Amino acid sequence: MINHEPYIYNYFNGENKFYIMREDLLPFSFGGNKVRKNLNYFEEIRSDNYTHVVTYGSKSSNHARIVANLSSKYGLKCTIITPESNENITYNTDINSTINAKTIYTPLSQVKETIQKTLDTLKYKGEKPYFIQGGGHGFLGTKAYVDTFKYISDYSNVNNFNFDYIFLASGTGATQAGLIIGNDVENYSSIIVGISVARKSSRGSSVIERCIEEYYDESGSQTKSEIDIIFRDDYLAGGYGKFDEQIERYIVKYMSSYGVPLDPTYTGKAVTGMHNYLEENDIKDKNILFIHTGGTPLYFSYLKEKYDA
Ligand SMILES: *Cc1c(COP(=O)(O)O)cnc(C)c1O
Repeated sequence: MINHEPYIYNYFNGENKFYIMREDLLPFSFGGNKVRKNLNYFEEIRSDNYTHVVTYGSKSSNHARIVANLSSKYGLKCTIITPESNENITYNTDINSTINAKTIYTPLSQVKETIQKTLDTLKYKGEKPYFIQGGGHGFLGTKAYVDTFKYISDYSNVNNFNFDYIFLASGTGATQAGLIIGNDVENYSSIIVGISVARKSSRGSSVIERCIEEYYDESGSQTKSEIDIIFRDDYLAGGYGKFDEQIERYIVKYMSSYGVPLDPTYTGKAVTGMHNYLEENDIKDKNILFIHTGGTPLYFSYLKEKYDA
């Protein structure tokens, strides 16, 4: 069984007190938020005897790695649909190959059709395929972080304080949606700030809103308080996978000062966004929690590209 206990600690005191939740240290396949999300899907997959797991992810997808690895752990076949792009192969893709996940490359415009065709072909061959949306998006993915929020509130209650702000890298937004719901369910009052790694604010926020509605619908409960969605797209550095010198400086700073690896696509961008946000809004003397959502193989891919070039 995989231990779900998160690792939260105070790593730096300056104008604010900074805490970090090391989801990257979850003990399965370099950890990350995709472990928690996918453990929920795999519970369903295993109890309903599916034979083949299909998902979607880019060449840098941490989600695809975790799906491939949980499939191999449980003796299930796995197919990953990946869009053809200029993006380089990362260590995530390499790991998928070593554990025998099959990758199908397809033009971005034909992703939907390719997924459908793959599922149909598998069924025709007598397999029972299960499809997990890209990023582990969906009710069970959101639920993973509703449940995880309890650890955050327990940690701060035991230590007699409240996290005033929680920051994280936000992609599909399911992790952020889960935390927002947890904040509501636990009667906590943290301000949760998602730093976008890809999407514009309007799209990102509306997807999170839908996630939250879907969660309350499916679980048959209701919001207790006013729901506030903060999804910032002002630190995108040009888009998904793109980064700038400020992000690189924070990557070096976090490794050298705190021993925390960050990658340029997700956590490095989020840390940079967090520090800029705190400064721009003149936020001081607060308890800040950064959720380290994982992506360690991408730290190594970044180093390789930088120093092997
Ligand atoms: C997938 C991922 C995210 C984004 O999570 P969402 O729930 O899709 O918003 C953030 N950080 C890392 C390292 C990820 O792999």
